Amino acid sequence: MAKMYYEKDCDINVLKGKKIAIIGYGSQGHAHALNLKDSGMDVCVGLRPGSKNIANAEQAGLTVKTIEDAAKWADIVMILINDEVAAEVYKKSIAPYLVAGNAIAFAHGFNIRYKQVVAPADVDVFMAAPKGPGHTVRSQYVAGKGVPCLVAVEQDASGKCKDIALAYIAGIGGARAGIMETTMHDETETDLFGEQTVLCGGLVDLMQCGFEVLVEAGYAPENAYFECIHEVKLIVDLINKGGIAAMNYSISDTAEFGEYTSGPRVLPHDILKANMRAVLKDIQDGTFAGRWIAENKNGRCFFNSKRDALAKHQMEIVGKQLREQMLWKNDQNLDNASN
Ligand code: NDP
Ligand code: MG
Repeated sequence: MAKMYYEKDCDINVLKGKKIAIIGYGSQGHAHALNLKDSGMDVCVGLRPGSKNIANAEQAGLTVKTIEDAAKWADIVMILINDEVAAEVYKKSIAPYLVAGNAIAFAHGFNIRYKQVVAPADVDVFMAAPKGPGHTVRSQYVAGKGVPCLVAVEQDASGKCKDIALAYIAGIGGARAGIMETTMHDETETDLFGEQTVLCGGLVDLMQCGFEVLVEAGYAPENAYFECIHEVKLIVDLINKGGIAAMNYSISDTAEFGEYTSGPRVLPHDILKANMRAVLKDIQDGTFAGRWIAENKNGRCFFNSKRDALAKHQMEIVGKQLREQMLWKNDQNLDNASN
């Protein structure tokens, strides 16, 4: 079992007198900055010139600086900007201002794992990664609760990096829910694998194929959308609450029988797992990361063409029409999107 930490294991006083810069004020950035401030920490937000979030952060009572000034001012720099631009911003606007004894931190290991960011040897490097979207990190904190977090110490220059990381996570409320110890290496690889094979890659392709098979067989696209796309959430909510057994308890025995007979037929486990292992290998040996970094350098041609094609797919058009006509459109909580 991975090691777990709770409030009793975190000493928030470790951060007393330390200045914390939160770089970025998006989903995670606003939550970290506001939670740390409410926990009594000395926080500022670092944003690029012209950012629409300067006003948002200031209205929330936070001090805003340029990224360079924030990095210069801080002892701990938490980098919460898009992973694909973080390395460039780090090199240009953060690295020149790091001094011995500082710490840099991330909420995801990508740039450290694939060596896009290499910190000086006299600087601590840690990860404080909430396992939930930033808006939930904030709303749970305000409700006196927290979102479970992962902690990882990548480089312990000070000899106190673990204590600093745990105190930081306590400051954002994560210790109220539980902190699981991992490495940035494992977090990055399991995160990429999960989103590529099951959560995003796997699921979207599964829904698309199901939709297409029904429509190509002459069924109404609206029916196909309901059965193969809309209902996914209902099933996943049941699994999330009580495991697969609870989901099977709620569905009919006919559905459960079909699950056992047809599941392995559409997704033969030997083929599926061989393909998943190939994806995992690309993640482990850096092939995927290299491809994604190159895609960003080359103007995202492939990425944008796929996004455009998906927007034109019948399942998206029918889905939009149906959601607009249905009362449940208001229940859809976009904050709960996977990450
Ligand atoms: P968002 O997209 O919500 O926010 C991005 C922020 O980065 C914005 O404030 C934006 O600035 C800033 N930014 C973007 N490009 C640049 C640039 N070129 N120069 C300077 N600033 C820039 O990001 P997330 O909060 O989703 O992700 C932040 C980190 O948290 C990532 O490492 C991600 O993997 C991780 N994470 C995210 C989770 C989530 O739920 N979203 C969950 C767990 C981890 P501006 O305000 O000017 O637009
Ligand atoms: Mg993730």
